[in-house]
This record gives sequence, structure tokens and C-alpha cells, in this order.
Amino acid sequence: GKNGVPVAENFRLEQSTIADTVQAGQVRVKTLYLSVDPYMRCRMNEDTGSDYLQPWQLSEVADGGGIGVVEESKHQNLAKGDFVTSFTWPWQTEAILDGDSLQKLVPQLVNGRLSYFLGAAGITGLTALLGVREKGHVAAGANQTMVVSGAAGACGSLAGQIGRLEGCSRVVGIAGTDEKCSILVQEMGFDAAINYKKGDVAKQLRELCPGGVDVYFDNVGGDISDTVISQMNQNSHIILCGQISQYNKDVPYPPPLPPDTEKIQKERNITRERFLVLNYMDKQEASVLQLCQWIQEGKLKVRETVVEGLANIGAAFQSMMNGGNIGKQIVLVSK
Ligand code: NAP
Repeated sequence: GKNGVPVAENFRLEQSTIADTVQAGQVRVKTLYLSVDPYMRCRMNEDTGSDYLQPWQLSEVADGGGIGVVEESKHQNLAKGDFVTSFTWPWQTEAILDGDSLQKLVPQLVNGRLSYFLGAAGITGLTALLGVREKGHVAAGANQTMVVSGAAGACGSLAGQIGRLEGCSRVVGIAGTDEKCSILVQEMGFDAAINYKKGDVAKQLRELCPGGVDVYFDNVGGDISDTVISQMNQNSHIILCGQISQYNKDVPYPPPLPPDTEKIQKERNITRERFLVLNYMDKQEASVLQLCQWIQEGKLKVRETVVEGLANIGAAFQSMMNGGNIGKQIVLVSK
């Protein structure tokens, strides 16, 4: 429903049998990892609000980002033992898939951490990197301050580190627990972090960003974003990555800003253009290589929250939507 909060009970596990013959062009795969992501909340509505997102159908198998290993192949470019991924992987332990729909993975690029291809070296990492590069206007030496909301999540934790790597002189995160804030500062090199569930966010932000905010990587929208925007500088930039605080509500995307915030945005000439990573797939290959290089060099610190078992995927989704994850939320289906 449009205004409901998603819960584990929205999903159920069924036993079923897959076809026993693999046709020409197909492969049989064993699922290793599945991804749960905020955008899936929109797929739980009859109208997802976006042309590029199809609603999940009631009582049909859900799908999303996934990684698996080929067990039998009748596709010319894929062989038994290959690791493969797709954005539309069915939430099944085994499946027969069209080989053309799969991308082959090179585990060495991520030091064998295959699940990173769903996170830091996958769509999540691409979103952080391309969001910063395409909409952030970050310039080395320009003494810019970046603020990241949803900062301890999959995209946010990378976006802050990438902001720093690309040249921001100060990076401040906003997240929902003290533990998350401490990880952002101790492990991920953020200068400071604010627990938005405690204390006065506006006051802390003023203290931590004395020169105002130049770049805002916005994952959450709502009150947090109104507070950040009120402290943004003239000619500054919002990277409109996501608005998770609004996903359980029946509002258009991107949700309009409240009048006072919109006035500030216009008066200060703050850019707030829609950003969709799928529009930049021509930059996918080079960007993934950049992310993998940073991971291998230890310049990009990666965190994952792993839940085991396909039966627990609904609970993993519910938990992620409620802030239960640090870094990328992954479901380990099979070892
Ligand atoms: P994520 O941040 O790892 O997980 C969601 C996090 O959001 C939670 O851990 C929670 O952390 C926070 N949150 C939940 N409800 C909130 C609320 N009401 N107010 C503030 N924070 C809240 O997920 P992700 O995959 O990295 O996605 C982050 C954002 O990027 C989402 O909005 C997603 O839709 C967007 N995205 C956009 C693109 C694109 O192409 N534009 C691509 C991928 C993802 P706390 O404990 O901090 O509350």
C-alpha cells in the first residue's frame, strides 16, 4: 500500500521446483547473495512512481540485485563456475536465467569479496561516485564542506569518503545512532558526525560547518534536509540521491520542498537536480574500476551488514528501512 511501513510479513517463502532442462542461451545458477535496497519500497506500490521501476506483483517471486554461480550453461559466453550478477535476480535459491541478462564478475577486482559487487563495487558505489562527480561540483583545493545524510548507509558511507577523495576539505555525516556516528569518524575518515535522533541537529551543524555547507549528498529528504539546506551557501549543490524518509508516503518523486526551504534554495541559487545512476551507465565500467582500485588501495573503507538465509530477506529489508544496517545490507543465500 502507498502509505504503509514495510514489514517482514509482507514476504513469504515457498518451496517450488524449477525446470529440469536448461534451454539454449540459458544457464542454471545457484544464488549466493541478494541485495535489499530502499527503492524496493516503491516496488511495493501498484504505481512505483518511476518509469524505470516495475511494481512487484502479488504472490509472484520478487527480484532485485543478486549474485550467483553458474552450475550448468547452455550460453556460449558462460561456463560452469562463473560468477554472475543481474539487477533482476529472482529471490530464489536456484534459478534458470537467460545468459544474456547476466554480467560476468571478476572476483580478483574486489579481493574475492564477491558481495561488494552489490555494494561498493556495484550500483551503490556507482551511485556514490557518479552522484558526487555529476552533481556535486566538487573541486580539489576549493575548501568545500560536504554534508551527507543517511551517512552510515550503503551509499552515504561511500559518498562521504569519495567526497574527501575528490577534494572536499571537510565532510560531516548525519546518521541515526551513536555507533554509526563513531564508525563514520573512526573508520571512514569523516571529520564529524551528528546523531539526528539526539539533540539539536541545526545547532550541531552550525558548529561543525562554520563556513556553511557547499555540497549536500541527500539520501533522506524531509526535516533533516530542510535543516541542512537552511545552512547551505550561495551557489552550492545538492546531490539528490534519495529521499528515504518519504518512501512510505504517497508523494511524488522528488518530493517538493516546503515553501520556506524552496525559498532558500532559489534565493541562494542552490542546484537540486534529479540524479539517477541508471542514466550514467556509459560510465559504469571505468567507474567500477576506479571503485575497485580505491578498495584495493584501502582508500575506500567498506562495511556490510549480512543476514543469512533467503527466509530472512523480508526481515533484512524491514531492518534496513528502519536503520538496522551499517553500510550495505546483504542477504547471504548460499555459501
Ligand atoms: P541505506 O542508506 O543503506 O539504508 C537506509 C538507511 O536510511 C537506514 O539505514 C537509515 O539509517 C536511514 N533512514 C531510514 N529512514 C530514515 C528517515 N526517516 N530519516 C532519515 N534516515 C532514515 O540505503 P542505500 O542503498 O544506501 O540508499 C540510500 C538512498 O540512496 C536511498 O534514498 C535510495 O533510494 C537512494 N539511491 C538512489 C540511487 C539513485 O540512482 N539516485 C541509487 C541507489 C540508491 P539511519 O539509522 O541513519 O536512520
